[in-house]
Amino acid sequence: MKIDILTLFPEMCEAVLSSSIIGRARKNGLVEINCVNIRDFAGNKHNKVDDTPYGGGMGMVMAADPIYNAYKSLCAEGEEKPFLIYLTPQGKVFDQKTAIEFSNIKHIVLLCGHYEGIDERVIEEIVDCEVSIGDFVLTGGELPALTVADAVCRMLPGVLSDSVCFTEESHYSGLLEYPQYTKPAEWHGKTVPEVLLSGHHLNIEKWRHQKALEVTLKKRPDLIEKSELSNKDLKYIVDLKNKKHDI
Ligand code: SAM
Repeated sequence: MKIDILTLFPEMCEAVLSSSIIGRARKNGLVEINCVNIRDFAGNKHNKVDDTPYGGGMGMVMAADPIYNAYKSLCAEGEEKPFLIYLTPQGKVFDQKTAIEFSNIKHIVLLCGHYEGIDERVIEEIVDCEVSIGDFVLTGGELPALTVADAVCRMLPGVLSDSVCFTEESHYSGLLEYPQYTKPAEWHGKTVPEVLLSGHHLNIEKWRHQKALEVTLKKRPDLIEKSELSNKDLKYIVDLKNKKHDI
């Protein structure tokens, strides 16, 4: 998979994308990520990429041409048109389902706005999808783009040691993950649940699944409403609500 990040601050993105799991995945050729400086496509003497808003008002607006030229240069590199995602607080709120969808696309471009945003005309012309990382406003699209790139890349084959690392995690199946513990077996007088020390895999699996249901019901009951649970799980949830099991 190839990801291009169109930004005015490539060094900010590089710093994050060169570290930890994603940095290693890039080095090992599991994903290609390029940070493309929109300013390199300004096409004017002073490399100017923004201007004042028509109609007046505060701040600056990123001009259409540099973004369009940067995007066109990426299109010219491959045979297929890349899928362009504009990070904006006006977009559809990002979630695991969308991350899975994006991870199946061969070439995505993440467009980061800054200042007051981007000239609407270039958005109309090149953007395939608008994505927000939540109902709040940041100074730029770089952190949202890095968030999307990280969530997508960790699901690519070989990036994590096993796909179980993400399929069993919160949100993949619609539930939150069961609680995790590591050594020592006793800490501050609190012990690890017995079943996890038993070595009995079936019982551990059953305990984890039930805990996932309990944690989700307690912390995010809205997810229980949305997920497609088996009759057995639904009965367990009803029993939990009737307090037959401790939450
Ligand atoms: N004037 C815009 C508005 O009210 O919709 C907000 C512009 S914001 C200050 C500058 C840039 O940050 C946006 O163009 C976008 O790329 C990015 N951004 C800010 N908040 C975001 C969010 N919640 N999700 C995704 N991108 C965001």
